[in-house]
Amino acid sequence: MEKHSKIYIAGHRGMVGSAVHRKLIAEGFTNIITRTSQEIDLRNQKEVFDFFNSEKPEYVFLAAAKVGGILANNTFRADFIYENLMIESNIIHHSYLNQVKKLMFFGSSCIYPRMAPQPIKEDYLLTGVLEDTNEPYAIAKIAGIKLCDAYRAQYKCNFISVMPTNMYGLNDNYHPQNAHVLPALIRRIHEAKINHTSEVMVWGSGSPRREFLYADDLADACFMLMQNYNEPGLINIGSGVDLSIKDLAQLVKRVVGFDGELKFDTTKPDGTPRKLMDNTKLKNLGWEPKMKLDEGIEKSYQDFLSKHPNVN
Ligand code: GDP
Repeated sequence: MEKHSKIYIAGHRGMVGSAVHRKLIAEGFTNIITRTSQEIDLRNQKEVFDFFNSEKPEYVFLAAAKVGGILANNTFRADFIYENLMIESNIIHHSYLNQVKKLMFFGSSCIYPRMAPQPIKEDYLLTGVLEDTNEPYAIAKIAGIKLCDAYRAQYKCNFISVMPTNMYGLNDNYHPQNAHVLPALIRRIHEAKINHTSEVMVWGSGSPRREFLYADDLADACFMLMQNYNEPGLINIGSGVDLSIKDLAQLVKRVVGFDGELKFDTTKPDGTPRKLMDNTKLKNLGWEPKMKLDEGIEKSYQDFLSKHPNVN
């Protein structure tokens, strides 16, 4: 990518897309194009056709997706598979038709089998049964990887797929029911502190383990990969460290400054027992994450407070 290359970030208002946007601006890129979901409905083939035809981007970051936490994935199962399949099919196909030089597709660590050996290597894809709570989303994301590979094989398109672990950071979604675990806990524990509640509910048993990566670290890795990596298949992007949901909740408690008790609501699903990704492929390209989890949670909490001042 040259500094003046025309780069389209699909999903620039989301947590991942906005981190990529910040990174490109910081690196001096001057020709970035974005559209809000009011301006273009990426599920609509005609709108995507018109947009690519008139804008002709040279590079595409495909970070637009319907995303959410375990409950949202499990509840809106049709929306998660349909919307993600439509968005990625439209963007990947029209990137091919308009000779996009390179496209990066964002997947997720939930594409791997539920009981995959840990840490999870890229070649464990499609070796076992998926976690049921997010199977529709995972199937859509696996289709995205296969779309990139198929267009590469048949039409020589340089379309690459990256698999980030559980992400957190600025511009996250703090919806009480639909958010991912980290922003959901930041919000709930903050509310408990403000309301002087003696205890906070954490979903599930607290024993599942998750790996977290700060969105700006992800953007940094993606920037490097967009310059240097041109392979079929997928590449994991993680921090290499995981912790239990119980330990995560305790860490959020410390950052927020809440001294009440944690209670576990075992009527809520646990999801996959563990999903720690193997980062060897990325490490061999010389990349390491920078943000420590406690510092990243502190930054996210400050961002939450500034954007949601009335939550109580
Ligand atoms: P996942 O990593 O795809 O399973 O998705 P999440 O980010 O939603 O994380 C889910 C894990 O965190 C499960 O083990 C949940 O039981 C646990 N968890 C604990 N409290 C919460 C909460 O308030 N919201 C969410 N989404 N998950 C929670």
